[in-house]
Amino acid sequence: MNKIYVVGIGPGAYEQMTVKAVRAIEMSQVIVGYTVYTDLLKKEFPDKDYRNTPMRQEVERCRMAYEEAAAGKKVAMVCSGDAGIYGMAGLMYEVGTEYPQVELEIIPGVTAALGGAAVLGAPLGHDCCMISLSDLLTPWEQIEKRIVAAALADFVICLYNPSSKKRSDYLQKACHLMLSYKGEDTVCGIVKNIAREGESMEILSLQELKDAKADMFSTVFIGNCKTRVIDGKMITPRGYQYERE
Ligand code: SAH
Repeated sequence: MNKIYVVGIGPGAYEQMTVKAVRAIEMSQVIVGYTVYTDLLKKEFPDKDYRNTPMRQEVERCRMAYEEAAAGKKVAMVCSGDAGIYGMAGLMYEVGTEYPQVELEIIPGVTAALGGAAVLGAPLGHDCCMISLSDLLTPWEQIEKRIVAAALADFVICLYNPSSKKRSDYLQKACHLMLSYKGEDTVCGIVKNIAREGESMEILSLQELKDAKADMFSTVFIGNCKTRVIDGKMITPRGYQYERE
């Protein structure tokens, strides 16, 4: 049976790909993906047949992968981070109903929240959630509801797609909402270009985050009421075990 690997390649560096992801790419002849990600792979896997489609042509990209697989090629569809988190895995299953002869295998990857958390320290030590601020596929009212619910529940919040040229004030709007339910001193972090050239991190308060600059290659972390700074790192305690000792 023809097969497509849907591969999460991690946040950027080859070292942060799983062994299984590397093997799936090695076994594939054709690599389909958005240019930024296929460019990251070309250095390590120069002999593959790379196929790109511009951003926002996701359905065409899926069909391209299926057509190659249906024609007998071994195909990997690649996404940054994990393919199931704001990635292509779900859409691949949806488009796949048109191609019953092709099987999918999903290979998990290190998502930006995990890659970024390691740069910041240990911000995800307790219950957390992910929210994308992109309103391309989700109405903004829905995003606002989730931000409020997550703030009320005191989750550590990871914001994906915090900003873009067209949505430059969305992070500010999100912070403004959260400030109604969380303290202005809540510890927050921004990590840019995780595992890529120019990686950087900043720890700041929720009040400061409201006026901070994040771009589309940033992931933003908002701590819970127990999150604190230890030795310049953002730490969310697991519970009370240290205080008890
Ligand atoms: N599937 C990806 C997420 C794609 S959505 C994953 O699992 O990581 C795109 C958003 O992910 C970006 O706007 C940013 O918020 C985050 N992101 C992805 N790669 C990143 C990186 N290397 N550094 C910082 N943020 C990243």
